[in-house]
Amino acid sequence: MSDSGERSEFDVVVVGAGMAGLYLLKRLRDQGMSAVALEAADDVGGTWYWNRYPGARCDVPSLDYSFSWDPELEEEWEWSEKYATQPEILRYLQHVADKHDLRRDIRFETRVAAATWDEDAQRWRIGTEGGDELVAQHYVMATGCLSVPKDADIPGADRFSGPTYYTGRWPHEGVDFTGRRVAVIGTGSSAIQSIPIIAAQAEQLTVFQRTANFSVPAHNGPTDADKRAQYDADPAAYREAARWSAVGVPIEPSEISALAVSDEEREAAYERGWQEGGLFGLSSKFNDLLVNPVANDTAAEFVRNKIRSIVDDPVTAETLCPNTFPLSTKRLCVDTDYYATYNRDNVRLVDLRETPIETITEQGIDIAGNGGTEHLEFDDIVFAVGFDAMTGPIVSVDIEGRNGISLKEKWADGPHTYLGLTSVGFPNLFMITGPGSPSVLSNMVVSIEQHVEWVTETIERMRKDGFTTIEPTPTAEAGWGQHVNDCADITLFPQAASWYMGANVPGKPRVFLPYVGGVDNYRDTCDRVTAEGFLGFRLVGDDGEQCNDGVVNRLQHDVATMLKLMAELELPPIETLGAAGAREFMAATNVMRPPGPDVGEIVDGTYPGADGDLAYRLYRPATPGPHPVVVYYHGGGWVIGDAISDDPFCRDLCDRSGALVISVDYRHGPEAPYPAAADDAWAALRWVGEHAAELGGDPERIAVAGWSAGGNLAAVVSQLARDNGGPALVGQLLVCPATDLSKQHPSIHENAEGYVLTKSLMEWFIEQYAPDGSSPLASPLLADSLADLPPAAVFTAEFDPLRDEGNAYAKALEDAGVPVTHEECRGQTHTAFHAVDALISPTPHRADMADAVRGFFA
Ligand code: FAD
Ligand code: NAP
Repeated sequence: MSDSGERSEFDVVVVGAGMAGLYLLKRLRDQGMSAVALEAADDVGGTWYWNRYPGARCDVPSLDYSFSWDPELEEEWEWSEKYATQPEILRYLQHVADKHDLRRDIRFETRVAAATWDEDAQRWRIGTEGGDELVAQHYVMATGCLSVPKDADIPGADRFSGPTYYTGRWPHEGVDFTGRRVAVIGTGSSAIQSIPIIAAQAEQLTVFQRTANFSVPAHNGPTDADKRAQYDADPAAYREAARWSAVGVPIEPSEISALAVSDEEREAAYERGWQEGGLFGLSSKFNDLLVNPVANDTAAEFVRNKIRSIVDDPVTAETLCPNTFPLSTKRLCVDTDYYATYNRDNVRLVDLRETPIETITEQGIDIAGNGGTEHLEFDDIVFAVGFDAMTGPIVSVDIEGRNGISLKEKWADGPHTYLGLTSVGFPNLFMITGPGSPSVLSNMVVSIEQHVEWVTETIERMRKDGFTTIEPTPTAEAGWGQHVNDCADITLFPQAASWYMGANVPGKPRVFLPYVGGVDNYRDTCDRVTAEGFLGFRLVGDDGEQCNDGVVNRLQHDVATMLKLMAELELPPIETLGAAGAREFMAATNVMRPPGPDVGEIVDGTYPGADGDLAYRLYRPATPGPHPVVVYYHGGGWVIGDAISDDPFCRDLCDRSGALVISVDYRHGPEAPYPAAADDAWAALRWVGEHAAELGGDPERIAVAGWSAGGNLAAVVSQLARDNGGPALVGQLLVCPATDLSKQHPSIHENAEGYVLTKSLMEWFIEQYAPDGSSPLASPLLADSLADLPPAAVFTAEFDPLRDEGNAYAKALEDAGVPVTHEECRGQTHTAFHAVDALISPTPHRADMADAVRGFFA
C-alpha cells in the first residue's frame, strides 16, 4: 500500500489512458493480472482529451479509426460522419472506459516522473510527480507518440500579454474568437484544421507559415457508401484486411508507376483521388510516389495547381505551394476549406521565410519586413507548433534500467529499440507504438491493437513458461535499427525536415523515427519473432533462461517483398524445366521487367565466336566518343541467357559509367558444355580488342564485366589475357561471380533456398556446364597464381549461394597484390542487382559498380 492507502504493487503498471492504455487495461484484466494505469489528465482519451482546438477531428475515416476488439461496441456505436470530431471520439473512448468499467483501474491526475529497474527485486519502481511509488513486474509506456507539445521556440514567446493557446493543450471550456485579432503560428495538420474555423469567427486572422504544407480535401460527410457496404458485408473480414494492409486501412495497393501512364491518365487519376479526398485518395493512385522523386513531383505539382486554382491572389497561392519536400514525406494534411480561407478579406498569410519573426512582444508579433520591422498587434496567439514526437513522451520520464543506465542518455543519438517495443538494458519495459514501429505511418488504432496484443500475449506466455524477465539482445536491437533505417533509406521520407525525422525540435537527433516497412510486414515480423522462440530476446526465470539470439528481417525490405511476391506465384523450380524450358521461362519473365534507362545508341551485331558467329548487343553512351569499352558477359548459369538477357543492367552500366558496353553471347550447356563458353568469351574479348576503334571504343581502355556465370567468364578471360599477352585489360567487374565450381563454400548451404538462385539450381547449372569444374578455366579461384591480373571490383550479395566463393576470389586477388574493390552487399540476393528500376535498395551498389568501372578507366 502507498501512503495514500492505495495499492502499490502490480503485475503491470501502464502509463497513459488513451486508446492504448484503455485496451491494455482490458486485456490485462481479462488475463487475470493486476494492472493500473497512471494518467496525467483527469479523464481518459489521450490525444482526444488534450487536442480540443476548433476543427479537431480524425483524418483516418472513423470506420477504420475505431477499436476492432469489441464486436458489440462496433454494433452499438454509429459514427455521425466520415471523420468524427474530437468531442465525438472522446465520447467514444469515455464510453469504452465506462462499458468495460476501466476507470476503477486508472489513477487520473497522476503524472509519472521516474521509473527505475530494481535488479534485486526484479521489479520496476515507478515514481509519480505526487511522490507515490508503485512497484510492478512489467512497465508499459502507453504514453502516445504525440502527447508532449513542443515549445514555441520563438523569442519573446512568454512576453505576450494576451491569451496564448497551444493546440495540444486547448482549454476545456473552448475559446470564442469573435471580434478578435488572432495570430496562428504553424501550418501543420492542427493549424490547417483550425484556421478555417478561427477565420470564420475572428475579426482578423494572421497565419504565420514557416513551411508550406500539402493538404488535400476531406470531403467530410456521411461515411462513404462503398466503404460502409464493404464493412457491413463482413466486419470481421474488413478488420482482418486492415490488420494485414500496409497502413492499417484496407485499400488496394496500386501496382502502377506514376511514370508508366500518359500525362492525361495520370492527371485523371489524381483528379479522382482529389475528389475522393482524404489521406489515401490521391496518394494511393500510384506505387512509386514515395520512392521516386520524379513520380512524386507529378503528384506534388497536381496539388500545387489545385492550390493555384483555389486561391485568388497569385502571390498568396504561390506562398502556399509547398516545394521544399516531396509530397507525403511530411504528414499529409486533410482539410475542409483550408486554401479557400485565404480568399477571405480578414485573413492574411505571413511567409516566415521572407519575413521571419523577430520577436513576440506584449502586444503582438514583430516580423522583419523589407522596410524594417513590422509590428503586428493581436488579441490572441495560437501556437499550432506540433509535438516532440515519438521519443518525447518516453524520455520525459526519467527511466533508469539495469546498472543505472538512463534511457534518455542511451537515446541521446536517437532511439534504439527492438521492434519499437523494447530496449536493451530495460527488462520488462514495453512501449506501445514506440519509435521503430509503424505507429504514426499507419492508422494508429490498428497499430495500437497489434502492440497491445503482442505485449499482453508475451507477458502471458512468459508466465506460462516460467520466465520472469524479458529483454532484447544487443544483436537484435542493432539489427532492427539497421532494418528501420534501410527501409527509410529506400524512400523519400528522409528528404523532409519533418517531425518523423526529429527535425522540428531544435537539437533533436535527425533519425527517421517510425518504421516504414508497413503494418502487414511488421505484424508478420512480430509474429515470427514469437514463433521463433522470441528471436532476439533473452528470457530469464527461476529455472533458467532462453535466448534465441539473432536478427529478424535481414533482407533489404524491397528485396524481401519481391521474393514474397515471387513465392506467391508458386513458380516451378527452374531446374525442373529442362534447358529449353528454362530458357523459355527466362525469356517470358524478362518481358515483364522495366526496360532500364535510355542510352545514346543500341547496336545489335555478330562477332566470330570460337565455333561460329554469335550475337552481341552494343550500348553506346549519348556522350561524344570514343568511349572506354566494357566487354560484358551475361548471367544464366552457362545454360540460359543471351546477349540481350541482361539488357536493363547493361543500359544502367552504360548510363552510369559512360562506357561503351558490349554484351556478348556465348554457347551454353548442356548442348555446348565446358569449355565452349570460356572459349567464346575469350574469342569475344580478342575480337573486341581488335575492333574496338571501329566500334567507337578506345582500344587502350578495355575492361571486362560479368554477372554470375558471366562473372566467372570475366574472371577467366582476365586470366587468359594476362597469360596470352593481351588484350591488355584495365579492369574486371565481377558481380556475384561463380569462381569455384566445387560447391564447397558455406554460403551455398546457408543460402540454399529461397533466394531465386538455389543450391539445387546451381548444382543443375554446374551439371549442365562443367561437372568437373577443377580447371581454372571453369573455376578461376583454383588458378596457380592470381598475380598481375587487372584491378578488380568484386560485388557479392549477403544472401547468395555464391557469396563465399566471390568473397574468396576478392581476398585471393588482394593477397596476390591485385588492387581490389570489394563490397559484400548487405541484405541483397544474387538476382537483386539486375532488377533495375524494380528494386531500389541495390541501386547504390550499381552506382558503386559504375564508379569502379570509371575508376578502371581514369
Ligand atoms: P495518447 O492518446 O497520446 O495517450 C497517451 C496518454 O498518456 C495521454 O493521455 C497522456 O496524458 C498520458 N501520459 C503521457 N506521459 C505521461 C506521464 N509521464 N504520466 C502520466 N500520463 C502520461 N492517428 C490516426 O491514426 N488517425 C488520426 O486521424 C489521428 N488524428 C490525430 C489528431 C491529432 C490532433 C493528434 C495530436 C494525433 C492524431 N493521431 C491520429 C495520432 C493519435 O495520437 C493516435 O491515433 C492515438 O490517439 C494515440 O493513442 P495512445 O493511447 O497511444 O496515446
Ligand atoms: P506539426 O505537423 O508538427 O506542425 C507544426 C507547425 O508549426 C509546422 O507548420 C511548423 O513549421 C510550425 N512551427 C513549429 N515551430 C515553429 C516556429 N518556431 N516558428 C514558426 N513555425 C513553427 O504539428 P501538428 O499540426 O500539431 O500535427 C502533428 C501531427 O499530429 C500531425 O502530423 C498528425 O500526425 C497529427 N494530427 C492529425 C490531425 C488530423 O487531421 N487528424 C490533426 C492534427 C494533428 P515547419 O514545418 O517549418 O516545422
